Amino acid sequence: MRKKLIAGNWKMNKTLTESKLLIQEIKDGVEKIKLKNVDVVICPPYTSLHLASELLKNSNIKIGAQNVFYKDYGAYTGEISAPMLKDIGCEYVIIGHSERRQFFNETNYLINLKVKNALQNNLKVILCVGETLDERENNIHLKIVDEQLTLGLKEINGDGMKNVIIAYEPVWAIGTGKTATPEQAEEMHKELRISLANLFGEEVSEQTLILYGGSVNENNSFNLFKMPNIDGGLIGGASLKTESFLKIIQSIIN
Ligand code: PEP
Repeated sequence: MRKKLIAGNWKMNKTLTESKLLIQEIKDGVEKIKLKNVDVVICPPYTSLHLASELLKNSNIKIGAQNVFYKDYGAYTGEISAPMLKDIGCEYVIIGHSERRQFFNETNYLINLKVKNALQNNLKVILCVGETLDERENNIHLKIVDEQLTLGLKEINGDGMKNVIIAYEPVWAIGTGKTATPEQAEEMHKELRISLANLFGEEVSEQTLILYGGSVNENNSFNLFKMPNIDGGLIGGASLKTESFLKIIQSIIN
């Protein structure tokens, strides 16, 4: 059975002081939940990662970054490398989020370089894929997502896939309050599993976690998470509200 995963993507939110409060609240809340077969990850902004790793040292909440560069070190002003993330206690990194694709022109090629470097540095990668509304309305959503998956995972082998998690995040559902229906999400997740089987074989496909992301909240999470190919969620807005985030975690256990 695949272990489930709930990851909170804080995006560009929370100062250090605000982060401290939110991390402490989440930590206290998660301590009261029996995390049966579920991993919980929070992905604060870079500036709060070290604090998070200090505060969560003896907890079962893991830490992820929201981005990474594809070289270990060097003259790349403003970038952060995988060894730096590892060094401050990051276990996960989100790569290819649609906001990075949209606002920072990240291509499948660049995303693949990042995936390869992150895996070489023993980070677990949450690779985001997802179509725009236009692509869905033009009925090319399956093709677009399959391309993002295939190119993003180029030159990764079955062994590398042990540290890869896929997050299906339709762009039209991110931060819009419009969630994919459980059936729409399940259809894409099933397609992704078929693509993974074609790329890496049945066993790897069955082992790989596929998360759903896009306006998940405490009211819709239960119905999404009960779909057979949805293994958890990448949560944006709702991960900034302790009560909502904790209820979302609860909904995957119950
Ligand atoms: C995200 O940022 O990955 C996301 C899914 O955001 P939201 O939950 O706010 O739609």
